[in-house]
Amino acid sequence: MIYTDLFSPSKLSSLLSANHIYPKKSLGQNFLIDKNNVEKIISSAHLDKNDTVLEVGAGLGALTYSLGERAGHVVAYEIDSRLIPILKELVKEFRTMEVRNEDILKFQISNFKYQIFDYKLIGNLPYYITSRILRYFLSAEHKPKRVVVTIQKEIAERICAKPPNMSLLSASIQLHGEPKIVARISKNCFFPRPNVDSAVLAFDVRELKNFDEDSFFTAIKAGFAHKRKLLIRNLERGLSLSKEHLNNVFSAAGIAKNARAEQLGVEEWIKLTQNF
Ligand code: SAM
Repeated sequence: MIYTDLFSPSKLSSLLSANHIYPKKSLGQNFLIDKNNVEKIISSAHLDKNDTVLEVGAGLGALTYSLGERAGHVVAYEIDSRLIPILKELVKEFRTMEVRNEDILKFQISNFKYQIFDYKLIGNLPYYITSRILRYFLSAEHKPKRVVVTIQKEIAERICAKPPNMSLLSASIQLHGEPKIVARISKNCFFPRPNVDSAVLAFDVRELKNFDEDSFFTAIKAGFAHKRKLLIRNLERGLSLSKEHLNNVFSAAGIAKNARAEQLGVEEWIKLTQNF
């Protein structure tokens, strides 16, 4: 197989049937068949030969091959063993490429012999575990320095939402950076065609020095627990804090007492958490 075959639906179909592979919906197997969009994703990663990339869900290699050309070191995770021989054959020319037939949610930095502390997380994510993957890497001790992921368009829009449309999801991701939608990808650019369009989400992950992430998450979970209630009531109940204390905390953080959780930006959540 040559790389460009991946972008021809008829050649891709023949490749899959010749290898008795039927894409598994349960693993989110929708392969990207549009080279322009591969370019957009890769260029959003701002790669050079000093970069280490951790690729999530390499599939047949649509992104992997281009990553091999641009990055210094690539570790490509793919859970489906049926795809591994094709993937390995495609990228065999890259000496600094490592293909791992493993679950990305079992990724442990300590399993690597060399330093991959400073890495970029890139992938067309399997949709069924999008949030779990983001949570897993953003709560890790060694977080990626940049994230470029293709996900369902609606989820990307929710992640990038601003006040007064914040949610638990947007607050928890925006704690770590300023996610932006850098490209939109039609469902027609995938084989088999999924039911929904996609978007490419990109952001640098900021360092949170001396910040208690656990308290932040406890606070936002309590704050968003009951949608119809005022934020102050949700916090009173969820965190077992007194009304007086919360009134003082809200004043100190400059937040209106009648605010609702979805009206707060991440910086306000940070101020609240620090004042508790
Ligand atoms: N990167 C390829 C592309 O763009 O054509 C494939 C993307 S496809 C949307 C997602 C890939 O993730 C599938 O190949 C699937 O087998 C793989 N995958 C699903 N769950 C996974 C997991 N837990 N760990 C690693 N790979 C996984």
